Parts: sequence; structure tokens; C-alpha cells
Amino acid sequence: MRIRVLLGRSRNLYQIHISPLCSSRFTKTRLDQTLRSYHRLVHEKAYVNGQWVDASSGKTFDVYNPSTQEKIGCIPDMNSGDTERAIQCAAEALESWKETTAKERSTILRRWVDLCNENKEDLAKILTLEMGKPLQESIGELNYGIGFLEWFAEEARRVYGDIVPSPAKSKKLLVLKQPIGVTGMITPWNFPHAMITRKAGPAIAAGCTVVLKPAEDTPYSALALCELAEKAGLPSGVLNVVTCSRENSADVGKTLCKSPTVKQISFTGSTAVGKILLEQSASTVKRVSLENGGNAPFIVFETADIDKAVTGVMGSKFRNTGQACICANRIMVQDSIYETFLEALSKRMEQELHIGDGFNPKSTQGPLINNRAVEKIEALVQDAKSNGAKILLGGQRKEGNFYEPTLIRDVTTDMKCYKEEQFGPLAAVIRFKTEEEAIHLANNTSSGLAGYVFTENISQMWRIAEKLEFGIVGVNEGLPAMPEAIFGGWKESGLGREGGKYGMEDYLEIKYVCMGGLE
Ligand code: ADP
Repeated sequence: MRIRVLLGRSRNLYQIHISPLCSSRFTKTRLDQTLRSYHRLVHEKAYVNGQWVDASSGKTFDVYNPSTQEKIGCIPDMNSGDTERAIQCAAEALESWKETTAKERSTILRRWVDLCNENKEDLAKILTLEMGKPLQESIGELNYGIGFLEWFAEEARRVYGDIVPSPAKSKKLLVLKQPIGVTGMITPWNFPHAMITRKAGPAIAAGCTVVLKPAEDTPYSALALCELAEKAGLPSGVLNVVTCSRENSADVGKTLCKSPTVKQISFTGSTAVGKILLEQSASTVKRVSLENGGNAPFIVFETADIDKAVTGVMGSKFRNTGQACICANRIMVQDSIYETFLEALSKRMEQELHIGDGFNPKSTQGPLINNRAVEKIEALVQDAKSNGAKILLGGQRKEGNFYEPTLIRDVTTDMKCYKEEQFGPLAAVIRFKTEEEAIHLANNTSSGLAGYVFTENISQMWRIAEKLEFGIVGVNEGLPAMPEAIFGGWKESGLGREGGKYGMEDYLEIKYVCMGGLE
């Protein structure tokens, strides 16, 4: 039975519980313990040609724990010249790697999977330390990320070409698929492990070599992966990780994009940076795979099961503290169930969301990645408030990089939180009247990554799933991503697809071979 209780329009109805364990004393001890016990996976050098190396300038940059804002350590701050050298190493390694058989590559990837699984707990702790997400979510990311290595270890052996029926008896027509060559990768901080395996996994499986720049906030997970890749038997130069600060990112990115040796660029991050990389890649007509930002609509029709829809929002909006590009960004609820839905969502948020350090088992909401991210959420909430939206829950910054899970109602299409990707724990709820209006609102954006629809009406499910202009559609499901499925966006949200049976295509060239003169 649905409970109909009207919520007060301006009252802050619930207090979100704040876990006490984010005191600096706790995390200092935790930090030391973590680094000591996982020392063999913690590297503070870049990884080029199978060697742990410094930047040629000797410069380093600092990495901080976003929960406590304590310094974790220093990482080489590489530049354009260092990147060039890594590209050359990747080019040399390509000569032999592309000649390996699919089965040989598959076997090495399989060993990498096993080693990641054996070290999963430690990898998860490193991930929580540098990125802040609750440890259970880090384990979830590891399962997801290792899943890509496993999937592509299997897919490596299924890269089939074609034999085309020939119109001439003297000619045989063939299509071959071959590795594209050296690939350049730039990855974000929100999934420091999985965004690497989702790209490097298929590239290596296809016979390509990799120069990867991880996000400056989260280099440790990338370097730990290199350690395990080496142990798995991956030859030197096949996977190279060039680390750098935010200041040097543009230079390193440009070097990868402009290099004639690099044949493909794969990026996950903001749409603004994706566009820069696309432009920079034009001079060498490079293959570019982009997974840019989203602005996901989450449509709840009056035909929905409200509990299911609320569960969908809880997963889609609040996992990773709202820091995922497929997170629900515009929660659109049909007029007749608007109040009921808000009430049910408030209750679940109040019961289930607990802010705290990622190492506290009670925490479900870690910190935002840095001060810039918190300031963005503060600005979005302030803008919504000053334009007439009402805050039902949260709405305040907490100590450090923490921000209360926030529920706002009466959101309208002119507000920034509706138009921009939020990347934080902000549930912005908009009201709509008809199906046509919902579709129009949902599609009226330059982003096209993920969209969600909740309804129990099967005809409506099909209608909306087909009409949504998004690369990923969740029907009564808030967590659609998995290695077996494809991931990628329409419109400005991207180019190409990762994962699934299309996930290797971006790393392969196809070649037509015509054998003539046959008798
Ligand atoms: P966010 O704002 O969430 O950090 P970005 O798109 O800025 O998203 O960052 C994603 C990745 O792109 C990171 O590895 C970052 O260092 C890198 N990056 C940022 N700016 C540039 C740039 N101008 N060229 C190349 N890479 C960049």
C-alpha cells in the first residue's frame, strides 16, 4: 500500500548520520598501517618498459587521502618528453606483442585476473585510501574491474575475421582483424581500477601496447595493477603508466594525441577534456574512443512500483557518493506520485546513507574527491535554492570533503543542477505530467550516456526504452553496468563502446585481402 504523506516544503526533515570515525587520529593510524601492510603493491614511481622510473625532471606531485586530506605520498610528475619515451617503448614492445597468439595473450590476462583476485582485499584498501569510497564499494569496483580482464581474456580468442563469398572464381576475398598498434589512455579518478581494466584489458587482448596516464588523484591503483601485470608475465613495454600532476596533464595528453606513433586514444572523463583530445587527435587522424560526461534522466511513471524506483535511485544516485557518469542526474517523477515518491526516498536516504571514512564499515557515503568537487555541489545547491527549489534533506558541507546526501524538490529546467552533471550526493527531483513531456525533457540535452525508466507497464517500457536517446538504458534497473554489457554514450557523451562483444573493436583494424589469380 502506498502511504500518502505530504512533505513540508521547506523543512529539513531528516538528519543524516555522520560516522565519528573520520577523526584524523583514526585515519593517520589507518594510513600508516595500510601503506605498511600493502607495501609490495604500493609504488611511488611510474612504470615504463617494465622499469619503475622517476620523472626525467626529478619532479614529483603529492597525492592526498580525500577523507582526511592527509598526504599519502609523492608520485613522479612526468612531462611531454617522458611521455615520448614511453610511446617509443610501447612501439618497440608492439613488434613482438602483436605477433603473439591470441591464446598466449589470453593466458597472461588470465594470470593477471588470478593475481588481482588473490590481492583483491589489498587493492581495495589502496583504492579506498586514495579515492575515499567505502571499502565494500572498492571490493565491488574490483569485482567489476577484474571482470573486464576476465572477459577480454576470453574474448581475445574470439576475434574472427570473414571469408566473403566471391563473385569471381579466380579471387578469394578475406577480412582480417589486426591490432591497431600503440594506444594512449587517459583515465579518471572515480573508478581508479575499473577504468583501466576496461581499456587496457581489450587493448592488450587485441595485441596492442598501452601508454596510460591515470588521474592525478588516484595513481596508486594504476601502479598496483602494473605490479600484478608484470607478475602475470606481461612483457616489458606492453603496459606503461606515465604519472603526472594536474598541471602536466594537458602536456602529456597532447603528446599522446599528437604522436604519429600512437594509433588510438581512449579517454574517460569530462566532456570538456574529451573534446580537447578529439581536436588534438585530428592532426594524425587517430581513432578516438571517448566516454565523456552524462546528464542521466531517471523517469518514474505513475505506473512504477515505487519501492523498486526508490531502490533504483538509491543505487544509481548514491553509489560512489554520486560520482559516476551514469548516476541519476535528473530524477523526473510523474505528478500523481510526486509526493509519495519524495516521502519514500527521504525515508530510505535517512535510514541507509551514512557519511564517513571509507574504512569505517558503517560508512556508505565517502568524501567527494577534492575541494573543487565539494564547491561544485555547494554552488549547484545554492543556485537551486535561490531559484525556488526546496531542500528536504542535507544541503550542507561537512568537515573536509564530505557533503551531506541531499534531496531537493521543485527543481525546474532552468536550474544548474538540472542542466549540469552534478557528480555528488544530490538527488534533484523534477515533476512532469505526461509521457510526451517526460521524453521531451529527458532527450533535451547534449549528453546521451545513460537514462533510466521505471514503469510496470510493458508497452510503456518498450516505448520509452526505444525513444530515449542514450547509449545505456536501465528499465526498472539503476545499476546496468557489467563487463558482459556494452558501455558508452550517444551525442556528446562519447564515441565507441567499451565492454561486451563490441569492446575490442576500438583496438582492432580491419583489413580486406583479395587473393587473385587462382585457377
Ligand atoms: P574531472 O574534472 O572529473 O577530474 P577530467 O576530465 O578533468 O575530469 O579528468 C579526467 C582525466 O583527464 C584525468 O586523468 C585528468 O588528469 C585528465 N585531464 C585533465 N585535463 C586534461 C587535458 N587538458 N588533457 C589531457 N588530459 C587531461
